Amino acid sequence: MNRLSDRINALAPSATLAMSQKSSELRAQGVDVINLSVGEPDFFTPDHIKAAARQAVDDNFSFYSPVPGYLSLRQAVCEKLRRENGLEYTPDQIVVGNGAKHELCNAIMALVNPGDEVIIPTPAWVSYVQMVNLAGGKSVLLTSSMEKNFKVTADELEAAMNEKTRLIIICSPSNPSGAIYNYEELKSIAEMLSRHPDVMVIADEIYEHINYVGKHESLAQFDAIKEQVVIINGVSKAYAMTGYRIGYIAAPLWVAKAVNKMQGQYTSGVSSIAQKAAEAAYNGSQDCVEEMRVAFERRRNLIVGLLQEIPGLELNMPDGAFYAFPRVEHYYGKRCGDTLINDDNDLALYLLNEAHVATVAGSAFCCPGYIRLSYATSDENLREAAKRISAALAKLA
Ligand code: PMP
Ligand code: GLU
Repeated sequence: MNRLSDRINALAPSATLAMSQKSSELRAQGVDVINLSVGEPDFFTPDHIKAAARQAVDDNFSFYSPVPGYLSLRQAVCEKLRRENGLEYTPDQIVVGNGAKHELCNAIMALVNPGDEVIIPTPAWVSYVQMVNLAGGKSVLLTSSMEKNFKVTADELEAAMNEKTRLIIICSPSNPSGAIYNYEELKSIAEMLSRHPDVMVIADEIYEHINYVGKHESLAQFDAIKEQVVIINGVSKAYAMTGYRIGYIAAPLWVAKAVNKMQGQYTSGVSSIAQKAAEAAYNGSQDCVEEMRVAFERRRNLIVGLLQEIPGLELNMPDGAFYAFPRVEHYYGKRCGDTLINDDNDLALYLLNEAHVATVAGSAFCCPGYIRLSYATSDENLREAAKRISAALAKLA
């Protein structure tokens, strides 16, 4: 008998984490899998941040922290927003959670009523739609494509809106496409949103620092809509701290208060040690961020160049994040032995089984026809992965 709630029965598991799990299992069986599925920096956390975590243990940061995070961390976040983004926030507008994922879910829970519509430009990160489902909302997918650089316009967003629209989720730099909205594009979205003051927008800026085209632009910089914007960010990607689980929202006070109330009931303040490490990340030297960005840029050039040489794979040059997102429709209807490729899921599975390279099907990002490869791994792994993918695809006829 299924005694689970409808809420959980309706929830899909995370495809990125599932694919990563699958590749770990294969590796445990002795298969030499190259894991390009999950998106996380392969670098170790910088030494000065690790030292701060150790110091926090020695200094007995072992008690409950305030629910929204230590004031000193929220001040460091405000200082970061001022220094890097020219944005003014006060510490009571910041809530620190268990990664950006947690704060995204909190923000969606705090803003979306059952039946409310949430516009999600696609391709979109795997968890948005599921979080909206958890809140009982309805996702309205606004499809983009490689030809449109995987972006949507203010006009397209406005055309998708109606009286039920409550929220829009914009991810820039984007997971999975790497697309980055420039100043002019954000400005026109802001102008459009200023005509719809009841519609909120979540700006997922977790890949802020993985940007190969210039300065990060935030939707929150447009004063007319600042009260409508909830920024999501954190230390996972910029500082190679995925396991520390520190993310935050910077939001209008009423949203921050709501999220704080919710955290007070079901999670409390997040790990005290990780918070002190994150504080060191924001307050310390930022050289490590740039060093990792440069490495990601070199790897992007490497993997995109190698993939572009493979006949049948179509891909553009991503502007940010650490994903390549090639179109794979060319292989539909082709087979290798008994394996027939009908869609992107089949192709991702084929690459795992045949090439021992783990990727994620575009369908997981509401964008069938593509696959996602994370290039947050060594040059050597990328070269070997491209070689294996090329050989496996060449067998399809
Ligand atoms: N947003 C996007 C677009 C992501 O790719 C991720 C990575 N998992 C997150 C949010 C969450 O990041 P974290 O919870 O590790 O801070
Ligand atoms: N953001 C990463 C990814 O998309 C981490 C995995 C996840 O949280 O889904 O692969």
